[in-house]
Amino acid sequence: MENFLPIAYLKNRFLPFQDATISIATHALHYGTGAFGGMRGIPDPQNPNQILLFRLDRHCQRLSASAKMLHFDLPADKIQQTIIDFVQKNKPTVSFYIRPFVYTSGLGIAPRLHNIEKDFLMYGLELADYLSPEGVSCRISSWCRQEDRSLPLRGKISAAYITSSLAKTEAIESGFDEAILMNTQGKVCEASGMNIFLMRNGTLITPGFEQDILEGITRDSVLTIARDLGIPIQERPVDRSELLIADEVFLCGTAAKVAPVKRIENYQLPSDRPITLQLREILTAVTENRSEKYRDWIFPVPV
Ligand code: PMP
Repeated sequence: MENFLPIAYLKNRFLPFQDATISIATHALHYGTGAFGGMRGIPDPQNPNQILLFRLDRHCQRLSASAKMLHFDLPADKIQQTIIDFVQKNKPTVSFYIRPFVYTSGLGIAPRLHNIEKDFLMYGLELADYLSPEGVSCRISSWCRQEDRSLPLRGKISAAYITSSLAKTEAIESGFDEAILMNTQGKVCEASGMNIFLMRNGTLITPGFEQDILEGITRDSVLTIARDLGIPIQERPVDRSELLIADEVFLCGTAAKVAPVKRIENYQLPSDRPITLQLREILTAVTENRSEKYRDWIFPVPV
């Protein structure tokens, strides 16, 4: 059972987590007509009266864009203020994750986005490492990521996570830690809840937005850091066979941070991962407010 933060947000008010409940006839529960965000925060290691949120503005913009796809007008600054209030009410003392969610909250049947009430809720939980930082084994999933013409993939739409769920369980039940999904063109896309990168011959390579990936905020951070380090970068379609012979492969996301891949199917990857470790080190320093260079990615909330 997760350790949930004590205060949640539902229907425009803060209330104890256990009282934040909704009806079994909630529209989004049946049709997947919701979208969520996911961001991390930590108590400032240098200042006990401050919580540090990572790239708050980008997370709020992405959720606002997801809400727009659900015909729900929810400005990013309203989301941002609610997150700040949420953090101040909860005063977390350990590393945590915030899950804001927009959804069709009206009761009743018939799939639609018009003529149905929408709501914005939020809860949080304590969250340490989601994937092993020592290296994960990955199965190439038999499920492929949806295409943008069938699901608006620029948003974090709930319905998309049926595919992630099928892929993750398939991977776990066959003895792997995580799944790598191809897109419908047969190119490498991403993991069940993370973007994917590989290093080959000194170049950092990752699938581009046209490959039906999620616009990951960690992906963007990793690309910025790598560019600043002078590492050559290619955002382009990636073949499955390229992954298997890569020098390094890693997954990245808010929950997973930077997680090295040690094996894909029955192909072992080199255990030497200098770039993965360097990028992970820098990103960790940024999130802990130890980096001058990327200080504007950190949003401090006084508590
Ligand atoms: N892809 C998917 C499908 C995800 O759910 C996530 C997690 N949000 C990511 C990639 C990584 O995105 P981010 O770095 O913004 O967490």
